[in-house]
Amino acid sequence: MHPWSRPKEPEELHTQRAALTRAFMIERRATGKTPSCVWPKVINADGAEVTLQKLLSENTGQHCSYCDNLMGYSSRDTIDHFLPKKHFPCLAYVWNNLYLCCDGCQRKGTRYSKDALRPDEPGYSFSRYFRYRRDGRLIVIAEDGTDRRRAEVTIEVLDLNDDDLVKERNTEFLKGLIPRRRALRPGLDARSGLLRFIALSPTYENKPFRDFFVQDPGE
Ligand SMILES: [Zn+2]
Repeated sequence: MHPWSRPKEPEELHTQRAALTRAFMIERRATGKTPSCVWPKVINADGAEVTLQKLLSENTGQHCSYCDNLMGYSSRDTIDHFLPKKHFPCLAYVWNNLYLCCDGCQRKGTRYSKDALRPDEPGYSFSRYFRYRRDGRLIVIAEDGTDRRRAEVTIEVLDLNDDDLVKERNTEFLKGLIPRRRALRPGLDARSGLLRFIALSPTYENKPFRDFFVQDPGE
């Protein structure tokens, strides 16, 4: 999970939220099922009319908010409710509850925890809580008790160590780590030199699971 900053709520969502929520509640009562959301078109930072998915993806750099895989890489983009609309229908159209999400993470269903970390919450950074192992598994490194618990809950409810995801990460990591014999900058060993080189290169943002490539070298 890579941090991102949420822009302010789009005007179009703000003005239509009450009516959309009302319609959602009525349909829910009538059918006994959780309805799909009908997202309004919104205006992005460049003044263009875009879908809400597109606006979110412009802010996450086209990455899934949870697993950090690239959108359109192996998945179409969807909007996820951090607190599921099934259990929190009044949050179906609440801006802070909406996250860009890949198919794989969407399949986690309606598991949730109010304690789970959010990639846009103040003070969140990957390295405060997590570390990727080269085999693709995500581990918790936070020492503080509350941080640890929250990180563990996050892995659990977002299923961040799902078998397919672990395999995919491992493949990406091996592809990205071709060892160099010489450090790229004096004072760095070859591997940390390479990691920093990747982080600063223009292709960094186009890599899935970005935090692996900037964490300190290790296991
Ligand atoms: Zn994902």
